[in-house]
Amino acid sequence: MQAASDSGFVTRFAPSPTGALHLGHAYSALLAFDAACAAGGRFLLRIEDIDTTRCRPEFEAAILEDLAWLGLTWEKPVRRQSEHLDDYRAALDRLAERDLLYPCFCTRKEIRAAATRHPKAPHGPDGPVYPGTCRALSPAERDRRIAAGTPFALRLDAAGAARAVGRRLTWTDAEAGEQICDSANHGDVVLARKDVPTSYHLSVTVDDALQGVTDVIRGTDLFHATQVHRLLQALLDLPTPAYRHHPLLLDGSGVRLAKRHGSKTLADLRGEGLTPADVRRQAGL
Ligand code: GLU
Repeated sequence: MQAASDSGFVTRFAPSPTGALHLGHAYSALLAFDAACAAGGRFLLRIEDIDTTRCRPEFEAAILEDLAWLGLTWEKPVRRQSEHLDDYRAALDRLAERDLLYPCFCTRKEIRAAATRHPKAPHGPDGPVYPGTCRALSPAERDRRIAAGTPFALRLDAAGAARAVGRRLTWTDAEAGEQICDSANHGDVVLARKDVPTSYHLSVTVDDALQGVTDVIRGTDLFHATQVHRLLQALLDLPTPAYRHHPLLLDGSGVRLAKRHGSKTLADLRGEGLTPADVRRQAGL
């Protein structure tokens, strides 16, 4: 099967090479590929490898091998996020010009402790919303800490960003329908990490736009992240794709398939003699 003509439909599969693919990844990749084929559109593969401590070239090589074995084809060259840090820097600069970023010096431990001290503090879908500790620092104190070499992340001033946009933002999921964005749900998300000069939210938003992705097909684990992406699109004047968040595959005991739960990898299934057609069937496709 080949997704190769050009109807204007563009979708992608965007794995992070932090481990081997399992059936859940195959399901997501096949859904996107099949949608591109059905629409006579384009299918892209993007390697989301900004996390230099966890991503490895051997995982990337294994991912390409698994996807090719499944029968997927994709356009070349593959976009590798680690090779495009300038694009993310340019987006950060635009947000900084509008005074929508601030340096955050908090450690994970400090953020956890603040959440424990204020158990009623707002919780978003990903846990406690960052309490904004460093947003309140004076410019002089920020400069002092930066000059002292204290590591810092860059966070989006979410309330300021919502004010800058000045209108209600929505996005549409193919299954769940129209969704209304509320910056209180996610708070001041990190846009540049301490160890990497970008973040998942920023890179994915910039790349989907740069690559002309019209349809994002991904798991429901990223459903709530989409309102962050929608806000960034509005701030950076980027188009908003159509979204489809598919259910996650569960194992026999109802637990989500994941590397960390020891789910069988595609390579395991292949080693057991399964064919790509068997994998499709197991994924319910
Ligand atoms: N790289 C992300 C992941 O592996 C997927 C990003 C996306 O599809 O938006 O979970």
